[in-house]
Amino acid sequence: MYQICSNCVMDTTDSRITFNKDGICDHCNDFYKNVKPNWHPDDRGRKELQSIVAKIKAFGKDQEFDSILGLSGGADSSYMLHLVVREFGLRPLVFHVDGGWNSEIAVNNIQVLVDKMGLDLYTVVINWEEMRDFQLAFFKSGVPHIDIPQDHAFIATLYNFAEKYNIRYILNGGNISTEGVRNPMEWLYYGTDMAQIRDIIRQFGTVKMGTYPFSSIFKHKIYLRYIRRVNVVKPLNYMPYIKSEAMQVLQREYDWKPYPQKHFESRFTKFYEGYWLPERFGFDTRKVQYSSLILTGQMTRAEALEKLQMPAYNPETIDDEFNYIATKLNISSDELRHYFTMPKKSYWDYKNQVSIFVVGAKILKTIGVEKSIKR
Ligand SMILES: [Zn+2]
Repeated sequence: MYQICSNCVMDTTDSRITFNKDGICDHCNDFYKNVKPNWHPDDRGRKELQSIVAKIKAFGKDQEFDSILGLSGGADSSYMLHLVVREFGLRPLVFHVDGGWNSEIAVNNIQVLVDKMGLDLYTVVINWEEMRDFQLAFFKSGVPHIDIPQDHAFIATLYNFAEKYNIRYILNGGNISTEGVRNPMEWLYYGTDMAQIRDIIRQFGTVKMGTYPFSSIFKHKIYLRYIRRVNVVKPLNYMPYIKSEAMQVLQREYDWKPYPQKHFESRFTKFYEGYWLPERFGFDTRKVQYSSLILTGQMTRAEALEKLQMPAYNPETIDDEFNYIATKLNISSDELRHYFTMPKKSYWDYKNQVSIFVVGAKILKTIGVEKSIKR
């Protein structure tokens, strides 16, 4: 039976959602119980961030870089760069991963930011033949999380740079303000499950992945975190972060251009989150994004419901978009249509390390590193 949360807009398209007697969902309850009490986007948070910044500067004083920041061109990473460089005087290594799907706006946004701040940009271009084959392998597998080839390249590049330049602080644009509600695992699975990635490549891949950057959970969660003492800092969680205001600052100071929706800086992600996920699987990531904004007072529930009446893609251009994706992947539109209609699979249909991730997440929650568990 269909049910929607009475407080946010998450609903039973998230098959593991539960509701309390007032019809409020577990995402909301988790937010109020575990996340909000530990979140201080105020003076207290700013003081905490200042002491973290002091540590970062002290650690990095004799090094080329004191931290590292991956720039997608999206609002969160762009605003974070502005903040840490202009307000806090940090000297991050700024990198971008070009997986072949950058939108023109993203390329322009990245360029204006680094130019106006006078920073060097480290761009890593992923070998297109490998990326294409990796993405096609995910299409052929039938799972929802076909964004993993892009995601994983970013994560692996980040940790490779951190290791190479002996950087101990990773600046992450993740934030409670716009991501307080998390995508269910069933919708967007972990991008670093190497058992799953290897299994899907073994069954459906056709080229040797000779240069694509891989990183396992053991390498970046255990070796780098606990042996090399690499820390992840999320600066946007220590201050009021109002997305619309952040975008105004970026537009005014850098001539940065906004996107119609979160994550739309990649043409692939735009197609994937706007069309593929909702239309093939019924998973609409806007529900997660809007619910986060509702919980943090940046959108009303009525406004979200109204926006959800419209599809996440533009019906007038979707045919062109569909053909663009097929052409870029060097397959026919019929072949892409076949992947769209083939039987649906999920992460549990392939080898996976989900039990390790779940145990790890529970440990992190117990020791207070993570406030809530992705489920
Ligand atoms: Zn809810």
